[in-house]
Amino acid sequence: MDIVKGNMGWIEVIVGPMFSGKSEEMIRRLRRAEIARQRVQIFKPAIDERYAANEIVSHSGLGIPSDAVAKAAEILEKVQPRTEVVGIDEAQFLGDDVVDVCTKLANLGKRVIVGGLDTDYRGRPFEPMPRLLAIAEEITKLLAICVRCGNPAVHTQRLVESEELIVVGAGGMYEARCRRCFEPNLAQLSKEPSPFLAPSARAAGGAAK
Ligand SMILES: [Zn+2]
Repeated sequence: MDIVKGNMGWIEVIVGPMFSGKSEEMIRRLRRAEIARQRVQIFKPAIDERYAANEIVSHSGLGIPSDAVAKAAEILEKVQPRTEVVGIDEAQFLGDDVVDVCTKLANLGKRVIVGGLDTDYRGRPFEPMPRLLAIAEEITKLLAICVRCGNPAVHTQRLVESEELIVVGAGGMYEARCRRCFEPNLAQLSKEPSPFLAPSARAAGGAAK
């Protein structure tokens, strides 16, 4: 955002498949805000525990302290009036309410940076990210690199089929694939509602579709 008058808030969305550097990009923007001495608060869903409970960590190991929330409404309760920048990572796990939460925060004059997967392991739009894209002022779509052929990769390929292995972001279960190499039916499960959700989140309603 080049020109922003007064205390106007807005919504920035960072999307892309796994391994595209979304968390890294979010960390970069949040660090720059901190350097500018802005008050920053960072949230992520409590179910994303792949590296640390109270940190956003990118695949490359960059970390920044964050607050784990069980649902989107908790973010509104926890954001302090003086906070200027709000980061929300892995927003696809927070359900449709996160759209209203982001809208309210932006209307309060805050810069909201929200990241997440825009498609699931079958290549389908992954709500609520498409709705966030529609209402955002600024959109960044990142691509990964296809592990098969080296082309830009838009898809998250799921590799495993066992229901025992439905966990968030574990290594070796997913890889980045381009449009040509993507196999949407490779890990098809008969009764699984949502590919990226941990069992606890599915039981709670989560972002299951
Ligand atoms: Zn490829």
